[in-house]
Amino acid sequence: MIGKILLITLVLLGNFTFLGYGSDNPKKKRILVLDAGHGGKDSGATGQKAKEKDIVLDITLKVGMYVEQNLPDMQVIYTRKTDEFIPLDKRADIANKNNADLFISIHANSNKSNKPVGTETYAMGLHKTQGNFEVAQKENSVIVLEENYHSKYEGFDPNSSESYIIFSLMQNTYLEKSLNMASYVQEEFREKAKRTDRGVKQAGFLVLWNTSMPSILVEVGFVSHPNEEEFLISETGQDYLASSIYRAIKKYFIYFEMEELELAPTDELRNKLTNNPIDSIIYDPNKSITAINNEVVFRVQITSSTKKLGLDHPIFNGYSDIFEYKENNTFKYTIGRSAKYEEIKIELQNIKVKFPGAFIVAFKNNNRVDLKQVIDQ
Ligand SMILES: [Zn+2]
Repeated sequence: MIGKILLITLVLLGNFTFLGYGSDNPKKKRILVLDAGHGGKDSGATGQKAKEKDIVLDITLKVGMYVEQNLPDMQVIYTRKTDEFIPLDKRADIANKNNADLFISIHANSNKSNKPVGTETYAMGLHKTQGNFEVAQKENSVIVLEENYHSKYEGFDPNSSESYIIFSLMQNTYLEKSLNMASYVQEEFREKAKRTDRGVKQAGFLVLWNTSMPSILVEVGFVSHPNEEEFLISETGQDYLASSIYRAIKKYFIYFEMEELELAPTDELRNKLTNNPIDSIIYDPNKSITAINNEVVFRVQITSSTKKLGLDHPIFNGYSDIFEYKENNTFKYTIGRSAKYEEIKIELQNIKVKFPGAFIVAFKNNNRVDLKQVIDQ
């Protein structure tokens, strides 16, 4: 019992090594396999500006970076770190051979219409709707680029609905854990990255089919939706999405280990998991909404520095809506924000009392744009 209390204390201290780590019996590292979908000759979905294979590689590498920096008792293995073609069965193989504890395949969605928007996360299983079936069909169709795909996938035809019946007969030992993980990802996307939540779903994805561990496939958004594509290719958007997946991973492993130890999660722990300042990665949800709306936002720039100032720096005391951006290796800081130029002009006058050199800057999707051009428009 005392052991259990000690373990809980370790978790609550907030440094988020997992439960066993750092105690007298250090466990082996947990292994996470991150799978950036597509690659090489397989571009995946294409939007107006970007390809799925590039977007998901960027996001996957960011997820891995967050995990490596913040969860020292996890080992991250990537199915690809460059733009290369990897067959679907090989991706599952990498996870199986490494005895992974969790497999996450990261993809971006597309649709014939430019209307659908939002994120969805899948566990392996038989689809319940035509829409979910079509997503699996699209992701599976890449096998036709592989040699011997007929024999490798036991005659599976990605485009024939009959082929998918095998998934209804499948026993999925890891379904519950996979669904839990999927719901953590969707929750983070919804609450922190402010994405439209299309829910946790099941469908027959070949990449998940032969994995022998909890596994999910994440669709981070639609490249076919113009504003969502902008979000997906922006640094900010990718950070939101990657940090959301990272937090879901952390939560999954902490809950998972507590369950093994038969501990009930406390409210305090739940709060720690969702409100830890290190892990909420200081993104202001308003900024992501700005990014999605694609509208111009005016801010007042007060200072810049070659060294990064914390947003809790005394210089910002008493001001809200502090925003940092980087330009030419310099960190620049603004306060206040408004979509109306007339409003920000009034704010500028007030701010100038304390910062005489302050001036107005304009942003679109959190990227600085030319103020004069914006006003002329
Ligand atoms: Zn894909």
